[in-house]
Amino acid sequence: MDANKLWTSVTQKLKGTYPKSLFKVYFVKDSIPIAIVNHVFYLRGTLSVKDFFENETHKANVLKAFSELAANINDISVITDDKTEMELFKTLEESENKEEIDIKNDELSLKLRSESIANAKLNPKYTFNTFVVGPSNNIAVAACERIAMSDKISRDNPLFLYGGVGLGKTHLMHAIGHKILERDPSKKIIYISSETFTNEFLVALRHQKNAEFRDKYRNVDLFMIDDVQFIAGKETVEEELFHTFNDVFSAGKKIVLSSDRPPKDIPILEDRLKSRFVSGMTVDIQAPDYSTRMAILQYKSENEKKDIPNEVIEYIADNVKSNIRELEGALNKVILYSELSSKKIDLATAKEALKDILVSYKTKEINMLRIKEMVADSYNVTVEELNSKKRTKNIAFPRQVAMYIARNLLDISLPNIGDEFGGRDHTTVMHAIKKVEDEIMKSEITKVKIEKIISDLNG
Ligand code: ADP
Ligand code: MG
Repeated sequence: MDANKLWTSVTQKLKGTYPKSLFKVYFVKDSIPIAIVNHVFYLRGTLSVKDFFENETHKANVLKAFSELAANINDISVITDDKTEMELFKTLEESENKEEIDIKNDELSLKLRSESIANAKLNPKYTFNTFVVGPSNNIAVAACERIAMSDKISRDNPLFLYGGVGLGKTHLMHAIGHKILERDPSKKIIYISSETFTNEFLVALRHQKNAEFRDKYRNVDLFMIDDVQFIAGKETVEEELFHTFNDVFSAGKKIVLSSDRPPKDIPILEDRLKSRFVSGMTVDIQAPDYSTRMAILQYKSENEKKDIPNEVIEYIADNVKSNIRELEGALNKVILYSELSSKKIDLATAKEALKDILVSYKTKEINMLRIKEMVADSYNVTVEELNSKKRTKNIAFPRQVAMYIARNLLDISLPNIGDEFGGRDHTTVMHAIKKVEDEIMKSEITKVKIEKIISDLNG
């Protein structure tokens, strides 16, 4: 059964059940059907999509719609990009089985290592061995290997990695962890996403368990925190990270941080954190060039044990340029499509499988800064004013428009949009989006103006 088609039918059925804007976010925009396995329907989505479909009522609605369509589906599961602990443990279990033979040789060390890998929540697949090196990432890889291989602390501590989404930052951080544990399984390693750091800290704060939180994140040999741009603007969390940073650093231990942009471009991040972040080594990862894209695709298809003709690999490498996650996604889509349609993998099948997604990849990358610039331009204000606290009408409305466009064009949560505009609350963002939706309904001029901005953004 085709997950895409089934999802389309189910969403058609449920369309009237939910308010329009909510329906659009959870059923259309933020969720992607991936596959049906053992009568479980898998979606890929954001954390809030996961929460939504884990809610009993929503789940029951969806399962009912499946059964009305005579589809034999017992459950729906949302896989987020940030792998949950459960999924990590699942992958870990698989990899442990494979390691059974080796365990006999070096049982203790391996056991210790796999425990440390589990404690550090490292994805077993993200190692240096599975990372393809090319001109776009070789400096970053060299810096990461150096951190992993040397026992001394040098000027490259902390290491700050930055680059666009899907270019391998998370992969490299996990690879550092694996390498260090391979050399010494007794090392204590923490890898944490900024989202988890924030949540755990706020929970600890509420339950007055700050001291335990502190111990957990400070007594380590290597502290890695991913996507620090998400912490910007959350004052108590910034404060905590600042102290964690100082403790780990002054104890002579290693620190690795990542972000989608260099520290100086993270809005509303405290200056003292910015200066800490750049005090060691800062390296960026660029989008991969053609030959690296080819190499990655070849590597992944060998790994999947699929015989994929060269012309198909060339076709994907030619068309998917900006992001390695999308590159992988495109390859998976071709493989899945050929399996579901029982067609052999050739250029025609690949074109057919990718016809929808390639349109969106071809357009110029849309990011928050470009949205802000376009909106500012169109309304005769500055980007700084959009980011500021000013609430005069001539600035507030363009700001709301920028929030609305960001929500529609980027894969970004309401709280993160709020952070991008001077640390505003997610309810403010929600209100802004509603306001713009209303204005679009009311005024043809506003509607056309916003459509123009969106079409300009799309190149
Ligand atoms: P980021 O954290 O920068 O958004 P990720 O590390 O999550 O990106 O990478 C996205 C996906 O692409 C992951 O599945 C990762 O394994 C893969 N990937 C990224 N770069 C490479 C590379 N150079 N070689 C192999 N796989 C890569
Ligand atoms: Mg990442």
